[in-house]
Amino acid sequence: MSTPTTHDTASWQAADAAHFLHPFTDFQQLAQKGSRIITKADNLYLTDSEGNRLFDAMSGLWCVNVGYGQQSLIDAAAHQMKELPFYNSFFQTTTPPAVELAQLLAEVTPPQFQHVFYAGSGSEGNDTVVRMVRRYWDLQGQPERQVIISRWNGYHGSTMAGASLGGMKYMHAQGGLPIPGITHIDQPHWLEHGAGMTRDAFGLKAAGWLEQKILEVGPDKVAAFIGEPVQGAGGVIVPPATYWPEIQRICDKYNILLVSDEVICGFGRTGNWFGCETMGTKPDLMTFAKGVTSGYIPLGGVMVGDRVAKALIEQGGEFEHGYTYSGHPVACAVAIANIKLIQSLKLVERVRDETGPYLAAQFAKLNDHPLIGETQTCGLMASMQLVKAKDRGDGHPAMFDSALEVGMLCRGHCFANGLVMRAVGDRMIIAPPLVMTIAQVDELMGLIHKCLDLTLGDVR
Ligand code: PLP
Repeated sequence: MSTPTTHDTASWQAADAAHFLHPFTDFQQLAQKGSRIITKADNLYLTDSEGNRLFDAMSGLWCVNVGYGQQSLIDAAAHQMKELPFYNSFFQTTTPPAVELAQLLAEVTPPQFQHVFYAGSGSEGNDTVVRMVRRYWDLQGQPERQVIISRWNGYHGSTMAGASLGGMKYMHAQGGLPIPGITHIDQPHWLEHGAGMTRDAFGLKAAGWLEQKILEVGPDKVAAFIGEPVQGAGGVIVPPATYWPEIQRICDKYNILLVSDEVICGFGRTGNWFGCETMGTKPDLMTFAKGVTSGYIPLGGVMVGDRVAKALIEQGGEFEHGYTYSGHPVACAVAIANIKLIQSLKLVERVRDETGPYLAAQFAKLNDHPLIGETQTCGLMASMQLVKAKDRGDGHPAMFDSALEVGMLCRGHCFANGLVMRAVGDRMIIAPPLVMTIAQVDELMGLIHKCLDLTLGDVR
């Protein structure tokens, strides 16, 4: 097939179907329907090959925190490409952007973090976590501490270790996962598991599942617990306020490393620089990616807390792990420009004090809509549960039959009306760019109301 040279949607779609195997995609179905082709973007808005304008309420894939078209990031990439497009950080070499970013990360992360290990993505970051926590316990003379506990319906990436840490059963079903030494507990999702309980009481109960699992595995065999401060891909599930402090207490009690996966929650999303600050935990390791460069170029990594860094540096000898693109100079230069822009635009403060609370107030009003059974927000991430009835008799909503695919119906109305919103089952979720203004929150809410009404028309 010849390469399409013009902006002709049909020819791009044909070439796409013929050659490109997309991630998390039914290839045959995509070939039948044809891809949507995104050609340009600015601020919060995408343009497709048909000239349609879309409000991107998902920041690309939870990553374009500073919005599209930021010149300082573009300039940083161009400058670094000319200066030094690549050099590695193996064999006792380094590059100025990798060093400068390491310093800057130590400034913007909580005080226990003075060191970074770079990777190319969030998944590679979490693979690094698995290697690192097991190495840490080897160095402590406790090599039997191998087991990492994570949660069902958590998401930690798509590599063998990332998908194993994740709790997506449909991912485990392909490729013989999870790998050994990883075990899961239920998620702190009040709608699923908390019937008849207050949210706070449920939060303590859900954290207690960690203690039960530690006792089941044996405390001297558990290396770490990993979780997202707010589960993103699982459906923007904001845990009860009691959950994370109790998780921290349990990790401290059994001397287990706490890993915060900040790939979505990092870099301002929750109204603090990192989600662990919003949830009140003090993790030993923190995975990051996405928002570190606002997705303009791939970069991920792990912030390594003093406890683990000290052992690796003072006792560890060579750490047999790393990637060609660990500390990629162009990616690091873009990350520096991105972090400086977040600082100069005061995006974290804006999310915490202005747009986050305003979005929360608007989402609370959605509870009056007949289709909505629950809304949750945290900073600039939010979810709403589409339900058949608000109360099935015990204070909990009645869900739709999943075969009706009501979430997909709603998502279809969103696309058709210029809004990118994601459906996780019947849970509609957003994570818009942090540059969103109050007027743009109003614009977004108008679109959401319209799409909910259209969906209601389909199901009632
Ligand atoms: N961890 C979390 C919490 C994520 O949401 C993701 C991706 O969505 C990852 C890890 C994996 O990151 P990547 O897709 O960059 O490998």
